[in-house]
Amino acid sequence: MSHKKIAIFTSGGDAQGMNAAVRAVVRTALERGSEVYAIYEGYQGMVEGGEHIRRMDWNSVGGILQFGGTVIGTARSKEFTTRDGRRKAALNLIKHGITGIIVIGGDGSLTGANIFRQEWPSLVTELAESGAISEQVALEHSNLSIVGLVGSIDNDFHGTDMTIGADTALHRITEAMDAITSTAASHQRTFVVKVMGRNCGYLALMGALASGADWVLIPESPPDVDNWQDVMADRLRAGRKAGRRDSIVILAEGAQDRHGNYIGSTEVQQALEERLGEEVRVTVLGHVQRGGRPSAFDRNLGTLMGYEAVEILLNSRPEDEPVVIGIKNNRMTRLPLMESILKTQAVAKAIAEKDYERAMSLRSASFSDAFKTLRTMVRSLPHSADAGRKKFRIAVLNADAPAPGMNTAVRAAVRFGLDQGHTMLGVRNGFEGLASGEVEEMTWMSVSGWASRGGSVLGTNRKVPKGKDFYGMARVIEDNKIDALLLIGGWVAYQTAHAMMANRANFPAFNIPIVCLPASINNNLPGSELSIGADTALNSIVDAVDKIKMSAGATRRCFVVEVMGQHCGYLALMGGLATGAERVYLPEEGVSLQDLQKDVELLKSGFQAGKRLGLMIRNEYANAIYSTSFMCSLFEEEGHDLFDVRPAILGHLQQGGDPSPFDRIQGNRFGCLCVEWLLGECARNGTAVSFMGMKDGSIQFHDMRNFEREIDADQHRPQEQWWLGLRPIASLLAQHRTSKPANEPEN
Ligand code: ADP
Repeated sequence: MSHKKIAIFTSGGDAQGMNAAVRAVVRTALERGSEVYAIYEGYQGMVEGGEHIRRMDWNSVGGILQFGGTVIGTARSKEFTTRDGRRKAALNLIKHGITGIIVIGGDGSLTGANIFRQEWPSLVTELAESGAISEQVALEHSNLSIVGLVGSIDNDFHGTDMTIGADTALHRITEAMDAITSTAASHQRTFVVKVMGRNCGYLALMGALASGADWVLIPESPPDVDNWQDVMADRLRAGRKAGRRDSIVILAEGAQDRHGNYIGSTEVQQALEERLGEEVRVTVLGHVQRGGRPSAFDRNLGTLMGYEAVEILLNSRPEDEPVVIGIKNNRMTRLPLMESILKTQAVAKAIAEKDYERAMSLRSASFSDAFKTLRTMVRSLPHSADAGRKKFRIAVLNADAPAPGMNTAVRAAVRFGLDQGHTMLGVRNGFEGLASGEVEEMTWMSVSGWASRGGSVLGTNRKVPKGKDFYGMARVIEDNKIDALLLIGGWVAYQTAHAMMANRANFPAFNIPIVCLPASINNNLPGSELSIGADTALNSIVDAVDKIKMSAGATRRCFVVEVMGQHCGYLALMGGLATGAERVYLPEEGVSLQDLQKDVELLKSGFQAGKRLGLMIRNEYANAIYSTSFMCSLFEEEGHDLFDVRPAILGHLQQGGDPSPFDRIQGNRFGCLCVEWLLGECARNGTAVSFMGMKDGSIQFHDMRNFEREIDADQHRPQEQWWLGLRPIASLLAQHRTSKPANEPEN
């Protein structure tokens, strides 16, 4: 069945990124030739009808990407939970001829949608029998198709890696935690911070990992002892003794002990005050977590899910089971609606039944990995070494440009290695430091506070070692008895690891295991779909572009924003998708004169039709001749009095800044996994060289001997780039091809 008329609504708790989804649904549906309606105020609006159900056009969703919450409103509706209410809602949909709906909400809203769909035929029969609709209309509306999107800051839905809004909530938590940590450290204070999550400890756990908190209480895995208060206080006390200046406990709303008794912030506060003999401060983050502008990730997640939802709805048949759109391994997936809801509710049930093992097993592998990592990271001191086991000396080094999240990865690697009883060495200033012997032993506390720091504390540079540098490096490796090397960085790190492997005959000292951990804002490294730093850079771009757009005021202006990425267009494309840029110039595609001519015409017709703002995003290497300033001059000249043009070269602000929550979480995970891999190699006297990353849903260590095969050596980027497939979606959503642009903001 093809749906000529569809509707979108947001329901339940609001979540940042919902607007991006609404925009994508409306514009994709229009592009596909459908009529599209927005139902304001969720199910309540559907029940009430009238003004609540409004036809949308291209421009009714312009300029909303950067807003938090949902511009079409959300509500909790008692009426919809009754059959009477649902019959009214059905009638209102039928009056508008709507045959398919897209719902964005939590498991409550999706359950409601499923019930609605199941009851639909009988509701229609009742409406026909009562004379509210004709037999003919009843026949035309014999089915209602439904697609769901999960909007929930808790990230509590089974089968999807992320829900819309969770990443932004983590941003808010991390910002608050960073602020609290700095004041706590100044006064040597203890803080208890409560975050949202009634049945899901995702925000608490990831927030703790990202901020370097000292203790976490989550519903899925309560403390395993009854005197957890003593253990927690002992741990904090030991941390202080070891030199830590702050003590921070994060607890989820739904935290409980292993008997199912609720643990609130006051309980934790009192327990700590009694045991530590000091004042303990409590911060309940509350609705701050729902506020603010959506992160780059949530904008793109909402956008991609919205696009996918329309594609599915428009191609659905009456007999198809309703689906929910999820994201797995950076790709959109379809999940069976009811089965996923049941599995989601199973976690809450397991927690209520105190079956914590089951609750944990129902969470994803990365959730339990994160929990394991956190338990190591929060120790005040490493476990004492196992006397019988051989100790290895592992050196950690940063190379290439700084990437936010590098320090988090170093901290995780150092603590993981120390906790296993090995010696961890830090190399200052990249390969230059390695060649000149800037190597020092790292201690547990020497990386304290690094989880949240931007830049590279170890020091990094872009110098690629050659010739005599290799002599220095080999000597320093021998002198320091380095058994294995962890290189955290970008292309320079990979290139050098490859060169070291190739030069082993000349430099036997290079016969040690080496692993490269992907850390580059460019996201141009093989073997990993996302490198550490790229998410932070993307957020910096999005923040900057939001401000640039606001600066346009009442003028008619086009901005050409130049972003980094070297020969990889990832930041440009994803930045364009997240900001609604109408044109993105990528090095993978280049720029031709015909392109520019077409773009000039498009700008001219857009501004002639009343548009006020143009936004083009250009990767720094998109074309050497058609530079940003060339493009600006060209557009300005051709635009005459119609509009003016301004360049914005974002430059190094993209490399700086505190790492985003995602980059910190990945930094932690990758840091530990790399040291684990190196230790495995050391234990078996191996000398493998690898580059690691998350690809196709699993952590993989790729053999460095395949490096050259996996890359485009001239362009310094991988042969295959998964995100290129998103180009048509970016261009579909930004430019209206079927009608003339009208007055309002296009983006
Ligand atoms: P969330 O979608 O965020 O989980 P709620 O659980 O509050 O939020 O659900 C939002 C709305 O969805 C409710 O106010 C109600 O109108 C509708 N809804 C939830 N559960 C049901 C249900 N079992 N039957 C019908 N409607 C429901």
